[in-house]
Amino acid sequence: MAALEISGLRKRFGGVEALAGVDLSVTRDAILGIVGPNGSGKTTLFNVITGVFRPAAGRIVWEGHDIAGHPTHAIARRGLVRTFQQAMSFPALTVAENVGIAWARRRMAAPWAGPDAILDFMGLSEQSAEPAGRLPFGLLRRLGLAVALATAPRLLLLDEPGAGLNEAETAELGELILQLPGRDIGVCLIDHDMALMARLCQRLVVLDFGTKIAEGPTRAVLEDPTVIDVYLGHRP
Ligand code: ADP
Ligand code: MG
Repeated sequence: MAALEISGLRKRFGGVEALAGVDLSVTRDAILGIVGPNGSGKTTLFNVITGVFRPAAGRIVWEGHDIAGHPTHAIARRGLVRTFQQAMSFPALTVAENVGIAWARRRMAAPWAGPDAILDFMGLSEQSAEPAGRLPFGLLRRLGLAVALATAPRLLLLDEPGAGLNEAETAELGELILQLPGRDIGVCLIDHDMALMARLCQRLVVLDFGTKIAEGPTRAVLEDPTVIDVYLGHRP
């Protein structure tokens, strides 16, 4: 059964219909990818799901509760957590302290023995005593994911985790993300890197102008002529 059931979701910014009635089912046992051209509504979808914006219409049912319009902290407490395109942490605190703070505030059972286990999983043990502000960009990105994991999410929404990373860093991060469903953490992933999406996602949803134009197993979606058209139409 789907953990997250979205129906008829709408969000408008002035004259722009960022979400024009989106239906979506997300299960926690596989990674679902959300793709689409710039401005197609991907980030808005994550923002509306996690309560950053209130939808104009539609239902967002998470583990049996309609959470549409609930505040972000209440939604996070239920285990529905997003990361931002920009890495966020307290720069003056150490890596271990950043993860420790998130861990201390978690509300859910976590598939880790403690914050050290998360640092170990993320390959950040060596940097645990370093101030977060001194980490190189690639490791700062990983810290962002470590902090998100420390909140004990049941479904993690990742918005362009590979942005700004080089090919090797993206591949390493991808291998870590790939392991999350095995630890009972569902993942919904936005990224422009189609090689990364093909490696990580079992299923893809394609948005265009706030509308879902395709959905299905990753390979089939990437070979769908409508999807290819949309990408070629938007990208020279
Ligand atoms: P994507 O993440 O797919 O690139 P977004 O969800 O960021 O797309 O944007 C969808 C549309 O909504 C775009 O036209 C964008 O300009 C608009 N939009 C998104 N957020 C805001 C906002 N906070 N204020 C005004 N317009 C916004
Ligand atoms: Mg975006």
